[in-house]
Amino acid sequence: MQRFTLPRDLYYGEGSLEFLKQLKGKKAVIVVGGGSMKKFGFLDKAVAYLKEAGIETSLIENVEPDPSVETVLKGAEAMRAFEPDWIISMGGGSPIDAAKAMWVFYEYPETKFEDITKPFSLPELRQKAKFLAIPSTSGTATEVTAFSVITDYKTEIKYPLADFNITPDVAILDPSLAETMPDSLTAYTGMDALTHAIEAYVSTAASSFSDPLALEAIELVVKELPASYEKDKKARELMHYAQCMAGMAFSNALLGIVHSMAHKTGAVFHIPHGCANAIYLPYVIEFNKKVCLERYAKIASRLGLEGENSEALTESLCALIRDMDKSLNIPLTLKDYGISEEEFKNKVALISERALEDACTGSNPRPISKDEMIKLFECIYYGKKVEF
Ligand code: FE
Repeated sequence: MQRFTLPRDLYYGEGSLEFLKQLKGKKAVIVVGGGSMKKFGFLDKAVAYLKEAGIETSLIENVEPDPSVETVLKGAEAMRAFEPDWIISMGGGSPIDAAKAMWVFYEYPETKFEDITKPFSLPELRQKAKFLAIPSTSGTATEVTAFSVITDYKTEIKYPLADFNITPDVAILDPSLAETMPDSLTAYTGMDALTHAIEAYVSTAASSFSDPLALEAIELVVKELPASYEKDKKARELMHYAQCMAGMAFSNALLGIVHSMAHKTGAVFHIPHGCANAIYLPYVIEFNKKVCLERYAKIASRLGLEGENSEALTESLCALIRDMDKSLNIPLTLKDYGISEEEFKNKVALISERALEDACTGSNPRPISKDEMIKLFECIYYGKKVEF
């Protein structure tokens, strides 16, 4: 038996934040990050709309990027004191991910963090509150996924929490929130979304339900990301939807080793998640194509790329991704990103071993050994074609 889970409701379009006026409930806690939602006036609007709905609000502010276990436990404690029946999180991936984890400890205070890191083992949520997410970036799609990434700074390990219990109940995709994204964030989060969709499409857990969402998301990102990067309003709106569709696909179909590698190099090389994905993606396609050439060729055909056979079509797909990287000012190799050769050589064994153990490695279409992972990282560092 397999399962496909999505939020019950999506509200989308300009002004959809106003849905909050119709929310049914008594008390809502609002979880936000460093201040951009406040600065741009969206937090005040949300509070006012909820007031109109007769809902009392309380704020949990200043969730840091890559939220910590401590932030999560502190937030859960605040929730227990306030007793909300709605948890609303607004902003980038970090506050929404943190709020998802807070939700677990709000409902089950006796639980230990170690207990919830085992995938698909969470106790039944929604005993005390439901969850509503409002993303302000167009990439992580955490507003529709079963995932949350929390960092344990003592062990320097990022824990991906995975369970359909933390898939939000409602997501509001109001494009005006995403209009505030700075250029580099638009580029990185957009390429993250493209990676989600491509990895979901070739994943071992891909299905007839996730495939159409992944393909449509790929087409939309390829078409709209360049204009979104140039601040075109309509393109930003469509990117906001495209990344959400990619999220619906990968929340159910899972990801692959582009993400394993990005997760484990993020902290070591201080490289933003979406930027790492954008660099690694074409190399991983070259590696994976031995077992799923037809799938990549299908993506290329859908995009109308040139190529007389599956091999040539897949090469066109890699070339397209590299062209997108260039136009978004993303480097094509780890060397060009600015990692010194010495640092790379010192750390390649460690990051390869960690990437191998990442939760995303299991659903990659082609199994990979540690030696192959090291070789793959070497290709990415020096910009060599992957031929093994
Ligand atoms: Fe991602």
